[in-house]
Amino acid sequence: MANPTHRHTRTRRDKRRANCKGQLPNLSLCPDCNELKLPYKVCPNCGSYNGRRVLDIVEKEG
Ligand SMILES: [Zn+2]
Repeated sequence: MANPTHRHTRTRRDKRRANCKGQLPNLSLCPDCNELKLPYKVCPNCGSYNGRRVLDIVEKEG
């Protein structure tokens, strides 16, 4: 089994993590309500996907 020979330093570990931390996920605009949503996912705002209503969005009361 391939094993790492040496343990990386804290600095090296943190430098690696600095590249991917705090990045926003990819977002696309919903064609129905023009809200930001994750691509290839059902829009959480209006519940539509591919021009079709998939989810019943219950309006928040109060
Ligand atoms: Zn939407």
